[in-house]
Amino acid sequence: MTTLSTPPIDLGDLDRALTRIAEAIGADRVRTDTATIEEFRDPYTAQGSADWDASAVVSPTSTEEVQAVVRIAGECRVPLWTFSQGRNNTYGGPAPRVKGSVVVNLREMNRVLEIDEDLAYVVVEPGVRWFDLYEALEAAGGRLWTSIPDLGWGSVIGNCTEYGRGYTQYGDHAENVCGMEIVLANGEVVRTGMWAMPNSEVAHVYRHPFGPQLQGLFHSSGLGIITKMGFWLQRRPETYASCWVEFSGDDALEAVADGMRELMLGNTVTNYPTIMRGVRLDEDGNPSFDPDASRWLARFALYGTSEAVDAHWIAVERTLGTIPTATLRRRDYAGTDRTSHAGHEDRVMAGIPDMDILALFETMYGKTTAHLDFSPVGPLRGKDVVETSRLMRSLYQETGEQFFSGLMLSPRSVIHISTMFFDSTNAEQTERVYDNYTRMVSVMSERGYPIYRTNLHHMDQVASTLDFNDNALMRLNETIKDALDPGGILQPGKSGIWGRRFRQV
Ligand SMILES: Cc1cc2nc3c(=O)[nH]c(=O)nc-3n(C[C@H](O)[C@H](O)[C@H](O)COP(=O)(O)OP(=O)(O)OC[C@H]3O[C@@H](n4cnc5c(N)ncnc54)[C@H](O)[C@@H]3O)c2cc1C
Repeated sequence: MTTLSTPPIDLGDLDRALTRIAEAIGADRVRTDTATIEEFRDPYTAQGSADWDASAVVSPTSTEEVQAVVRIAGECRVPLWTFSQGRNNTYGGPAPRVKGSVVVNLREMNRVLEIDEDLAYVVVEPGVRWFDLYEALEAAGGRLWTSIPDLGWGSVIGNCTEYGRGYTQYGDHAENVCGMEIVLANGEVVRTGMWAMPNSEVAHVYRHPFGPQLQGLFHSSGLGIITKMGFWLQRRPETYASCWVEFSGDDALEAVADGMRELMLGNTVTNYPTIMRGVRLDEDGNPSFDPDASRWLARFALYGTSEAVDAHWIAVERTLGTIPTATLRRRDYAGTDRTSHAGHEDRVMAGIPDMDILALFETMYGKTTAHLDFSPVGPLRGKDVVETSRLMRSLYQETGEQFFSGLMLSPRSVIHISTMFFDSTNAEQTERVYDNYTRMVSVMSERGYPIYRTNLHHMDQVASTLDFNDNALMRLNETIKDALDPGGILQPGKSGIWGRRFRQV
């Protein structure tokens, strides 16, 4: 494989560290048995490969225990890798970048600490899943909707720190984080922004700090372990309309992409729409694969009073309904209705979690189905969307792999997610898919399209494409890393950022 693998590294005094961690958090919370190590492998790397194995999985239950783990790891120079639920599948799952790291499993810190129904926010611990948050909000009275990704089993904190995406008005999850509690590499706890005032009344409602904005440093960086987080939510609307436009051909794609941008910039469409190719829906709104589909499907939502939704629909019809080949449809639900949605697609834009997409994906190769999501970001201009889409299709055609496209729209940009399926028990196919990804990163970076998020194998390569002024950005990242984490303990290699000791080997 042409991708970079783990550098040969000094794992420090692992045995001494594990003994001390067991004393600090309990022996039953430190696991080194083969079954546990295998359970926390990346499910989408070649089956049976131990190349990305942890040496131990430790499961603290409080911020104080996380502090103890970090302090001991620092003293023993043992690298840690953190996950909240560890469901980061297609981007590495729970596996560490550095083989032999001790994995910090935060699944047991799973309390929803606060729900403020008036001010529309929650405070959660790392192990809180989208399923848990949904249930807690419904139990609290249901006046709040959370945005969710396609699968409900992941964590709110893990997904937000990775710049994860959902499909409601609050679908850019990282944008809705307000106030973090973080354990730093030296074991100290900090709270960001206005949460630094111990009795702050605005810790989770006012996002700007006094002084520099540091919260962003802890997204996708490995600079700290987030132990609590405030997260903003959407007010339950009176009416929710799940809206669809089906169309075919590149001219229509260009017009729909431009039309969607205008509808979003004009605040008619306020959620995060998706345009899909290779998927079709049955009458109940359930998706299935159709690799030969010549038609595209675009999905978006309208929320508000029934009068407002009707008025916005008129604007939608004017903008999208006039595009040749396009057909529009819409299904309305009361905001209080949480049970009668036609299928996954209608549920996900209403913040109701499920696991249906995983089941759909497993129709490919059964339980050993794996996929790499290749996800460059481009501008939301119809012409660029069509050209990029053609280019990506041709890159797939050269390899003989099927092309499934999901364009995730924001008002100004589009993430061109394409999914490469493979059977993880087929070593040859797995290698081909990873190699093809490497090639596609180069092609897209020549086009000026960076990758929004990537898997363990490609973090160094993706980081190396952001090389303005002889890699000034990486030098800045490394300066910050060395200052905050001089021992290079926390998530070495995350997003291509390595502590000094790893850069020197
Ligand atoms: C079929 C399918 C559909 C998917 N659909 C979507 C989608 O719609 N939207 C989307 O965004 N993603 C999607 N994903 C990708 C992924 O599954 C989700 O983003 C998932 O929520 C991430 O898993 P997690 O929340 O358990 O994160 P984790 O695995 O817990 O964390 C991810 C990473 O974040 C960092 N991290 C986690 N917790 C902490 C912490 N407490 N402190 C510091 N760093 C931390 C670590 O680097 C970790 O590796 C999909 C994947 C699949 C397989």
